Amino acid sequence: MSGKATTNWAGNVTYGAAGVHRPGSLDELRSLVQHSRRIRALGSGHSFSPVADTSGELVSLDGLPPVVEIDAASSTATVAAGMRYGEVAVELQRAGFALANLASLPHISVAGSCATATHGSGDRQRVLAASVSALQLVGPDGDLVELGQDRDDGTFAGSVVALGALGVVTRLTLDIEPGFEVAQRVYLGVPLDEVVERFDEMFGAAYSVSAFTDWRSGEAMVWLKHRTDGPEAAWTGGRPAQRAVHPCPGMPAESCTEQLGIAGPWHERLPHFRLDLTPSAGEELQSELFLPRDRAPAAFAAIRGLADDVAPLLHVSEVRTVRADDLWLSPAYDRDSVTFHFTWVKDPAAVIPVLAAIEELLMPMGARPHWGKLTTVAPAEIIALYDRAPEFAQLTQRYDPTGKFRNRFVDDLLPPT
Ligand SMILES: Cc1cc2nc3c(=O)[nH]c(=O)nc-3n(C[C@H](O)[C@H](O)[C@H](O)COP(=O)(O)OP(=O)(O)OC[C@H]3O[C@@H](n4cnc5c(N)ncnc54)[C@H](O)[C@@H]3O)c2cc1C
Repeated sequence: MSGKATTNWAGNVTYGAAGVHRPGSLDELRSLVQHSRRIRALGSGHSFSPVADTSGELVSLDGLPPVVEIDAASSTATVAAGMRYGEVAVELQRAGFALANLASLPHISVAGSCATATHGSGDRQRVLAASVSALQLVGPDGDLVELGQDRDDGTFAGSVVALGALGVVTRLTLDIEPGFEVAQRVYLGVPLDEVVERFDEMFGAAYSVSAFTDWRSGEAMVWLKHRTDGPEAAWTGGRPAQRAVHPCPGMPAESCTEQLGIAGPWHERLPHFRLDLTPSAGEELQSELFLPRDRAPAAFAAIRGLADDVAPLLHVSEVRTVRADDLWLSPAYDRDSVTFHFTWVKDPAAVIPVLAAIEELLMPMGARPHWGKLTTVAPAEIIALYDRAPEFAQLTQRYDPTGKFRNRFVDDLLPPT
């Protein structure tokens, strides 16, 4: 175990655990879980919320073998839970396969990302957890539990976006497809009015679309990620960028994936950032709200009304779309969504009141906060947004009757009975 106090990637959460255990084998992990009073899995620590925090033990799976087992017949790959999406992607690409989508950053762990419903963008793309068809976890007694759609009693859809509360996930089976190529183009100076008026056209114009803005300039930068085996992007607007750009205006683009319409493998275009370079040193905070897609115009208007407060504290904001899914605790549960993401300067005292003002306007529109990012919304108000939360509470009772995997974040959402 590493003895020093640990923080999340951004440094805004200092974990209550004394250090992080790094077992080198599954048996070691099982024994650790069995003999711990309270324990929680840690992924790559990229969450800004205290979702991974615990005053008990923290365990990272990054010391376990990085296995990727491809089953071409069933179009699935079973991967070690502690691997980073970018590492899994390289193995899949080498074998001629792909995942349907990726988040903006490839450095995040598969299990941690799925536990929090991490997502990319795309009208037809669901949160990354929606591609999980089976998983294995270590339960409180060190027992191995296999869960899957094929052996489902109707609860698998509650077991993937699980906030670490059901056990330590050791491997996940992901849907895969034949590898594909993507060409990425960026358009600068797109009026925000046009983003709102031509929202469906713009976000439907390519496989994955993101609009970046500071809200105050009245303009957006639109990134189109176009699958080369699909129809040409229908929408163009603003000025095509003549050189590669970073989502944050003025920052060097070296850490970004290739742009300028140069086609390349899916995993080197779908994330905004390259796996082999670190995009920033964590000098930021993030928040994000998922809204029903049809609330996009109202949400744009509300946030633009706060632009003078928001812009000075912002690195950049990103708007994406996510397809509905059936995962009980997914913020995109049962509704096609538009997401409003904010990368803030690392000044919580200044950011929190402005975030609260945004959330005050967007919560009545049905916003659901991202589990892994900052929010000022009370846990009871958040969990009330999920119809299936009572069933999820029953799942935690079933898989973790003594609350070994609970932490304050989970207790605040689902008070122990
Ligand atoms: C620069 C940056 C860019 C980002 N971009 C995006 C983006 O494009 N889209 C998006 O949606 N989010 C994004 N995020 C947020 C990020 O994807 C989520 O916070 C995600 O949870 C990070 O994964 P992680 O492995 O770091 O999880 P952690 O923060 O380590 O853990 C998150 C949760 O997962 C649980 N967990 C981790 N491993 C396991 C396991 N083996 N078994 C059971 N539970 C486990 C933890 O207990 C905890 O509850 C970004 C974050 C950063 C810092």
